[in-house]
Amino acid sequence: MEKYLRGVEGMKKPQGCKNCGREGGMIWHGKYPRGLKTMENRYEIVIRRILCKECGKTFGVLPKFVEKFRRYARDIIRFVMRCLKKKETYEGIAGRFSVSLIGVTTLRQWRLSSAEGG
Ligand SMILES: [Zn+2]
Repeated sequence: MEKYLRGVEGMKKPQGCKNCGREGGMIWHGKYPRGLKTMENRYEIVIRRILCKECGKTFGVLPKFVEKFRRYARDIIRFVMRCLKKKETYEGIAGRFSVSLIGVTTLRQWRLSSAEGG
């Protein structure tokens, strides 16, 4: 995590605003902690927040590895969704993975977070 925290300090500012599309008005605006689950571990990571001076919107800037992880997680979630549609139990699905790596609770949480669109 030390490594990551150093990386976050050196992160590049996004050029344009996701809300108004204007460039040049982006300034760092604090940080917030956030949990990140991987297949192996649970991390507490720090997300930097950025503020657009033009429209006043703030955004969390996700590090690259978080984006990569989320894509990976989405593939697994899709697989889990298919299993659920086939009326497989959470326990059965968890059994397809190594149980020590992925728990039933994790599957439930993923289902919830994907239902929220996240
Ligand atoms: Zn803006």
